[in-house]
Amino acid sequence: MKPFRYERPATVREAVALVAGDPGAVFVAGGTNLFDHLKLGIVRPCLLVDVTGLPLSGVEVLPDGGIRMGATVRNADLAAHPEVRERYPVVSQALLAGASPQLRNMATLAGNLLQRTRCPYFLNPDTRCNKRRPGSGCAAVEEHSEHTAVLGASESCAAVHPSDLAVALCAVDATVCVQDGTGTTRRIPVTSLYRLPGHRPELDTVLEHGELITAVELPALPMAARSRYRKVGDRASFSFALVSVAVAVDLDGDRVRDARIAFGGLATTPWRARRAEAVLRGAPATADRFAAAAIEELATARTVRANAYKVPLVCDTLVATLRDLCEEG
Ligand code: SF4
Repeated sequence: MKPFRYERPATVREAVALVAGDPGAVFVAGGTNLFDHLKLGIVRPCLLVDVTGLPLSGVEVLPDGGIRMGATVRNADLAAHPEVRERYPVVSQALLAGASPQLRNMATLAGNLLQRTRCPYFLNPDTRCNKRRPGSGCAAVEEHSEHTAVLGASESCAAVHPSDLAVALCAVDATVCVQDGTGTTRRIPVTSLYRLPGHRPELDTVLEHGELITAVELPALPMAARSRYRKVGDRASFSFALVSVAVAVDLDGDRVRDARIAFGGLATTPWRARRAEAVLRGAPATADRFAAAAIEELATARTVRANAYKVPLVCDTLVATLRDLCEEG
C-alpha cells in the first residue's frame, strides 16, 4: 500500500480546503468502502482527510416538516431514528437492507451515497475496467456479465450502482447539500447527483474534487409514510441487489392519487421511474395497472442473455410491492 498522510480537521472550511488544494487528497469517514480500495490498490491517495470530527452527525426536523440529516450520521443511527422510521420507512428499510449491523455502525450517510460499484472487474486490478483505469476497456460488457445494467449503460461501462439508500432517497426527492472551497453551498437533488457513464465512467457523480457533502434533506412528504423498500439478491442477507424497488404511494379510495418509484440494481445510477409513475397517477390500483407501469418504464431496457432476467424480476417486484402497500390500512 502506498504511504499517505492523514489529517483530521475541526471545521468544514478547513476540510474542504485540504482536499481542494491537493489533487491526491480524498475525504474519509467510516472508511468501509475506501479502505477496501486502498488495500486492493484501486485508489492511491496521498492524503486522507477524516471528516468524522466535523459537526455533521445530527438529525433535525426542519420548520417545514422536512428532515435534515448530517453527512456523517451513522447508517445504524439513521435507520433507527424515530422520525425517519415512521415518516420515511422506505429510507429506514433501505438502510437495514444495505449492510450488516457491523457495517451500519461504521458507514455514514454520505459515504453510503458515494460508495463505488461492486462490479467484480472494477475490484480486480488485473482486468480491463474503464471506471478504474480510463481507456483500458470494459471486461464486463465484453464478457456479458449477468450483473450489468439494463438501463443507462454505455459501451464504456454498464456497472450497476450499489447503494440501496440512494434508491430510496431518489424516490422521496431528497436533496444533497454540498460545500466547496469558497464556502458556497449548493443543493443537488439526489436524482441529479449521479452521472450516466457515457464515455467518462470514471466520474460517478457531478461533485467536483474538494466538494464535501454536508447534509441530505428529506422534503416534507406525507405520502412517504406509506412507502417500502424491497430488494431481491442472491441470498437473503446482505448481498447487493439483483434488483430493488423503492415505492411511496398515495391512494384516493381505490385509485392511485400519486406514486413515487425508483429502481436499484437495474441501472448505472439509482433510477427514478417517472414513466411508471405517470402510468399510475389517477389509475385504478390494480395489479394489471402496476404491471403496465413497470413495462412502460422498462420499454427502453437493453439486455443481453445474461442480464435479461432483471426485467421480469423487477416487474414482479414492483407489482408485489405496490400491491402490498395498497392493501395496507
Ligand atoms: Fe469497469 Fe464499468 Fe466495465 Fe465494470 S462495467 S468492468 S466497472 S467499466
